[in-house]
Amino acid sequence: MLCDSTKFQKEKVNSLLAEFGFEFKQPIETKDDFKNMVPVQDGRSFQDNMQKFYEDGKLSSTTFGFTSGSTGKPKLLANALWRQKSRKYYSIDLKEILTKYILSEEDVVANLTTPGGFSTLYDGCNRLLEGVNCTVLPIGRLDSHSKCHQVQMLNMMNMLNINALLGTPSSMIQLLRLAHDNDIELNIEKIIFTGEPLSNQKREFVNQYWPNAEFYGLYGHSETGFIGINTPNCEHNCYHVLDDFYYLETKEDSSLLVTSLADSVMPIIRYEVGDIVQISDEKCKCGNDMPTINLFGRSDQKFNFSGNLVDVNVIEDCIASVYEGVPDFQIQINCDTKGNDTLALVLNVKVVDPESKSKLIEIISSIDYIAEAIEKQAGVIDVVSADAFFTNLRQKTPTIVDFRGITE
Ligand SMILES: [Zn+2]
Repeated sequence: MLCDSTKFQKEKVNSLLAEFGFEFKQPIETKDDFKNMVPVQDGRSFQDNMQKFYEDGKLSSTTFGFTSGSTGKPKLLANALWRQKSRKYYSIDLKEILTKYILSEEDVVANLTTPGGFSTLYDGCNRLLEGVNCTVLPIGRLDSHSKCHQVQMLNMMNMLNINALLGTPSSMIQLLRLAHDNDIELNIEKIIFTGEPLSNQKREFVNQYWPNAEFYGLYGHSETGFIGINTPNCEHNCYHVLDDFYYLETKEDSSLLVTSLADSVMPIIRYEVGDIVQISDEKCKCGNDMPTINLFGRSDQKFNFSGNLVDVNVIEDCIASVYEGVPDFQIQINCDTKGNDTLALVLNVKVVDPESKSKLIEIISSIDYIAEAIEKQAGVIDVVSADAFFTNLRQKTPTIVDFRGITE
């Protein structure tokens, strides 16, 4: 059965609100009270709160970070693992869940997430892996090193019998390509991905080279931390959630609101993270009893093209009418020298054959809003192959990339 929230923990919620200085005439008794009395927090109000906490000196002695900015302006983050008792317990719980369902002491794991640059993920993952007691290889971004050094590192990984990778899908596929191009054999058994979903197309690609690889997902956000895990026996979009530390609700449009019961430095209270989910009380087929959510992508998958908002799903339908089994894709919006908006559709194929290309351009150009722009000579459409994929600084490959606001 579908539910509109995970279990509601009255005491924890009330003490969290008190810590952040929320005052109500009466205590919050039920999840409906919570819903009616506490406002939803979007990215902007979260950022405003953090700015105020910073100005009031409440964020001193914390570790700062920023969100990647791939879905909006970068937001200030703060972390104080040793100061917050509940944060410590959360870390211990997460470590135990990882140990139970994903990693063991025998694993040799490369951490491929991006270090530095105000990212909190890389250091957090190293600490977590240390807790699991596996062997940790702190690699970071391979492409931040020279070709020669990259090969050297791959040889070291081979020598150390690496069997697991932790990173974004793009970072792991990059490592796979480098290892393959340089004939370096790695026996990868566990792919632990985070940051974005891992499509079936990518899973199949990985298994061509590493047939023993199984896939595990960690679901979370820079603001919230890791909320849930996915294991090879779960449906691909099903995640088991740490509901002792997170209270999850869905709005009427199924977008997810997260309240972190572990964080008393950042106000993650009814925070709208921008994902579409379903909360269900049915048991997962993998046999794990932890409660589950199903992820259905981002809620902000729209882009502005010459003044009109276009939905990603519409573009996906166009691709589906030309390609059987939609390849991974990315929509790149830019502006040409005459000031016209341009849309480049990048497809995860080696070569776009001319027939499919002209068909796709024709279909996309006939979408109402886009046709209007083309008629006004304000839009240009192109379809290009996988070489053109754009990966951001934290090695995510977003579905929509808008280059128009970026100045060189
Ligand atoms: Zn499961």
